[in-house]
Amino acid sequence: MQIKCSACLMPFSLNKEEIAEMVELFKSDPNVHYDAHCPKCRKATRITKKQLALNPIYKKMLEG
Ligand SMILES: [Zn+2]
Repeated sequence: MQIKCSACLMPFSLNKEEIAEMVELFKSDPNVHYDAHCPKCRKATRITKKQLALNPIYKKMLEG
C-alpha cells in the first residue's frame, strides 16, 4: 500500500505485517485510525478504514 507522508510528503509503502496489523485494528474497531510512520521523518500519517477499503484487495481482507 502506497502512502504519502502528511508531514514531509515522502511516498512510502507498508509491508505485509503492517497491513495485517491495520486490518485487525479496523476489524476490532472501524472508527479508529492507523498511524503509519514515515521512514524519513518518523511522523505519523493517519490511515482510516475508508482509505484502506479503497483498495479491493484490502477491502476483501476487511470483510473476510
Ligand atoms: Zn515524513
